[in-house]
Amino acid sequence: MSKNTRVPGYMQSKAARNTRGIIGDREIRFKCSLQNTILDVLRGRPGWQEVPGPNIQQQNSQQNNKPAAGSQTSTQPQDGKGTKTGDGDWDFYWCDREWLHQNYDTMFLHEHQKILHFRNHYELTRKNLMVKNLKRLKKQTEREQGKSEGLSFDFHPTTYELPSEYHIFVEEFKRNPGITWIMKPAAKSQGKGIFLFRRLKDITDWKKGEYQPLTDTTREVPETYVVQRYIENPYLIGGRKFDIRIYVLVVSYNPLKVWLYRDGFARFSNTRFSLDSIEDAYVHLTNVSVQKNAPDYDPEKGCKWSTMRLRQYLTAKHGSEAVKKVFKGIDNIITKGLQSVQKIIINDKHCFEMYGYDILLDSDLKPWLIEINASPSLTASGKEDYELKFGLLNDLLNVLDLENRLTGKEKRIGGWDLLWDDGPVLADDGNMECTTNGTSVTTANSFLGCHNDRKRQLREIYTSAQAIKKT
Ligand code: ADP
Repeated sequence: MSKNTRVPGYMQSKAARNTRGIIGDREIRFKCSLQNTILDVLRGRPGWQEVPGPNIQQQNSQQNNKPAAGSQTSTQPQDGKGTKTGDGDWDFYWCDREWLHQNYDTMFLHEHQKILHFRNHYELTRKNLMVKNLKRLKKQTEREQGKSEGLSFDFHPTTYELPSEYHIFVEEFKRNPGITWIMKPAAKSQGKGIFLFRRLKDITDWKKGEYQPLTDTTREVPETYVVQRYIENPYLIGGRKFDIRIYVLVVSYNPLKVWLYRDGFARFSNTRFSLDSIEDAYVHLTNVSVQKNAPDYDPEKGCKWSTMRLRQYLTAKHGSEAVKKVFKGIDNIITKGLQSVQKIIINDKHCFEMYGYDILLDSDLKPWLIEINASPSLTASGKEDYELKFGLLNDLLNVLDLENRLTGKEKRIGGWDLLWDDGPVLADDGNMECTTNGTSVTTANSFLGCHNDRKRQLREIYTSAQAIKKT
């Protein structure tokens, strides 16, 4: 795709064409570790310039000659504007997690620089740590606000970390005979290493391979897994299981500031759901990376619905009140998840994170948190998926607003709605909801699965921000 054809619709408007990405007296320079939609978006952004960087391997080998932690001299730019050397030659960096881990502690960041990922994002995105942090906040909430408040944390299936909690797990296992459990490597993704089981002896092979007393000190520490209660009654559409991918943007942890993207998708399994075949990944794992290898997978049809289509389907079937409750539950999951690590994440005004939340609905329409990804896939599986991801990422850049074109007071920017700003954000008056007793209540500024007229909205906010800035 050429640079020109990458420019999305709203940017082709006259107003946008005239707007250059400029910091002070120069253009915005970006670096990008990925070769997918994000690179297209960055290259298509008016006035943004790509900084050709060394590839990851070179970066890694350079790492070996890196100065000691704490020393910033060699990475400091020479002209005070971030133009010459090392980490200073970019304004915006969509880096991968490894790069950040290797470089963050020795990096000097200038006032205007923005980089993807917080230093210890894994506190939320590693499966075992996510659950640990949620359990801790739940306990604290129960202590401070009472048991009933703790109930608002009951959205993740019962989970234990293995091998450390093996014995507690066995007790729980024995208390619930016959139910299905799912084993997942704590730090892997894309369904790798996952399996389901019902009998303890089904995990003896795993135990043999991974969970052995470390008598031999030269052996590696066994890989951490989580064992989790399997949701045996997922909500099915056309007999198939699905989970929902939701995009959440955190621009600050202190104070916590969170944006929620309206669009997302439901990822369906390719094969009808049944509890008879627990060894069949195509039935039980909804990851696209798994499903696309199914023998009867049709790449044209794919296995995705937009969140809007899902919301409409659920509304037609169960009515809008029931569906509002589902989506309110999802908002609760999003914010509780982030609050559980708010005090732990190393906050840095240069960092931001775009999370991919995976939520599963059960047959009672209860939303369950399955996991949170720090690097949700940005590779498009088709045209519609490309458009979704292109808009999502472009609007993410609009929220970060390196061009300084907005006022900073916006509650909606394109497809992103401000969900939390050091407290819940309420929708504008126009979105007040009427209760049955005639009083009105303001609703959360949350529009997941609602119409995403982002181009029109962007035109409006840019025009009004321009007018405000002139006065
Ligand atoms: P990964 O990081 O490898 O994608 P996930 O935790 O997201 O691992 O699990 C992969 C898939 O397995 C999910 O998308 C979901 O379809 C299914 N799954 C995971 N945990 C559960 C669970 N507790 N109950 C039901 N299905 C689950």
